[in-house]
Amino acid sequence: MSQTSTTDLKAGPFETQATVDAKRTAAIKTVQVAVDHKAATRQAIIVAIRRENVVFKTRSDWKAKTPATSPDTDWDYKAIAIHHAGNSYSCSADGAAQLRKAEATDIDSFGHLSYHYAIDCSGAVYEALDIRCKGAHIEGGNTGVIGIVFLADLSVAGEAEKYGPGAWNVTKKRGVIAGVKEWIGQNKDNEDVEHDTPTEKQLHAVSVLVKSLKHFFEIKKLGGHREYAKTHGTSRACPGTYGMEIAAQIRKEYQLSPP
Ligand SMILES: [Zn+2]
Repeated sequence: MSQTSTTDLKAGPFETQATVDAKRTAAIKTVQVAVDHKAATRQAIIVAIRRENVVFKTRSDWKAKTPATSPDTDWDYKAIAIHHAGNSYSCSADGAAQLRKAEATDIDSFGHLSYHYAIDCSGAVYEALDIRCKGAHIEGGNTGVIGIVFLADLSVAGEAEKYGPGAWNVTKKRGVIAGVKEWIGQNKDNEDVEHDTPTEKQLHAVSVLVKSLKHFFEIKKLGGHREYAKTHGTSRACPGTYGMEIAAQIRKEYQLSPP
């Protein structure tokens, strides 16, 4: 990623300095200082979250892999989409390990992590994809949408079949292997009795994260992946019943519109 810095960040505010030298009698010339405002905004978001006593791990903190291909760039975000990592994830596992698992899956599919931020069950926020890069979390509609994923399983049994894309639809779009995988996933989901319920720390973390993002971007909409999929003529079970409830509550808290 040529435009993204993986330099770690300090916990406190950052300083930037410009020096102007002028003789007392001479006129002061205008000095142009180039500031990478996108890099500064990325850093300011992180500082704002840490100020609220929420643990924030940058990509270098959790040792994210450098993608083989540079993700596209994006900015001027207007919307936020909430996801859950899904049935094969659990709050009982280590957050960073869960994110590395999601990273491996996403690198296979998209070449890089698909979401911008991840939240584990202890309430730690991870920088999944640099905010200057375009996400890959909503089929056909990633421009201007920040992706947040809960590293947990927030759906209840049977939701994949009820709301998912359907095995045949997946086969039509992406071939037999993808279709069969979808079918297997649905059947596993029907028998899936274990899921996570959102933790208080997780809810606090998502509230702080959304508040910070709203401060730096003109966010107007927030919703679950399921709602975004509908607007693009597809269907998804993500982010599960509990994830949808989180989206509804956050929307109310910050007076945002649905997708
Ligand atoms: Zn999703």
